[in-house]
Amino acid sequence: MSIRFIDLHSHSTASDGSDTPAELVRKAAAARLAAIALTDHDTTSGLDEAVREGRRLGLEVIRGCELGVRCEHGELHILGLWLPEGDAPPSGSTPLDATLAELRGHRAARNRRIAAQLRQCGVDIEYAEVEAISGGESVSRLHFARILHQKGYVPTPQEAFARYIGPGGRAYVAKETLSPAEGVALLHSVGATVALAHPMLFRYPGNGFAEWLDDTVADLKRHGLDAIEAYHSEHSQADTRRCVDLAARHGLALTGGSDYHGAGKPGIALGRGRGGLRVTTAVLDDLKERRRRQGLPV
Ligand code: AMP
Ligand code: MN
Ligand code: MN
Ligand code: MN
Repeated sequence: MSIRFIDLHSHSTASDGSDTPAELVRKAAAARLAAIALTDHDTTSGLDEAVREGRRLGLEVIRGCELGVRCEHGELHILGLWLPEGDAPPSGSTPLDATLAELRGHRAARNRRIAAQLRQCGVDIEYAEVEAISGGESVSRLHFARILHQKGYVPTPQEAFARYIGPGGRAYVAKETLSPAEGVALLHSVGATVALAHPMLFRYPGNGFAEWLDDTVADLKRHGLDAIEAYHSEHSQADTRRCVDLAARHGLALTGGSDYHGAGKPGIALGRGRGGLRVTTAVLDDLKERRRRQGLPV
């Protein structure tokens, strides 16, 4: 049997991706992936549609989400995989959904402040426009970036982060959210497999990142962290090696995915990242084995 590949990190129109959940799953099937996880920011609203399309096409779809959490040095991202389903089809609400709704409330408050700061910088923008292009439940700075680009304020959406909405930018606003320990504990409490997303993208101020990350991971493991996202579109081979070592030192599993956003992040393909990414089904098998040992469903 030939080696098959998977992608355990992707975004749809439910947050800041440009493909609907069903379109995303069809692209994964066309790319002959064996499984994908849909991991939208702070929302589970795309999951039922993705799972349905996966069943239709014979592609395994894992219910996931991504949380941004705040620590002393900035924002870390946490992935929850194998999220619980709601009570009745279409999925009802779970204990996780209540917290996600609160987090989306913080997002909306922050987004209004970003829009106001942008106007102070002379940008012609209303928050309603940003909500309108998002179309989904979870509005992110990537939507602001798309509008700033469309209106000609920046040459590329990425440049919007450097100039306006990223840390240090003129319209940067920090988001109120959970601490890393709270985020991990929340996802763990609903039976999710919890992974630290793209650790090497964290911009640690100054020296001592490796030691800080080791301490942080040790602490998060005590709260239920299961895995490190070693394979990611923006991780170099050296980054991946560091993550593999980090996971081994702490007895954690590995995970990986492209962080596909469709048109919002041009050049990143589902399952392939920027071209060099390959996450095999062995990674998925290990995660499932860990869940079985924990007595959790796969
Ligand atoms: P938010 O969740 O509203 O804070 O927005 C964060 C999202 O913006 C991330 O999930 C990425 O999709 C995107 N993003 C953040 N920083 C950058 C960057 N420097 N370049 C491009 N996209 C970014
Ligand atoms: Mn995003
Ligand atoms: Mn992320
Ligand atoms: Mn992501």
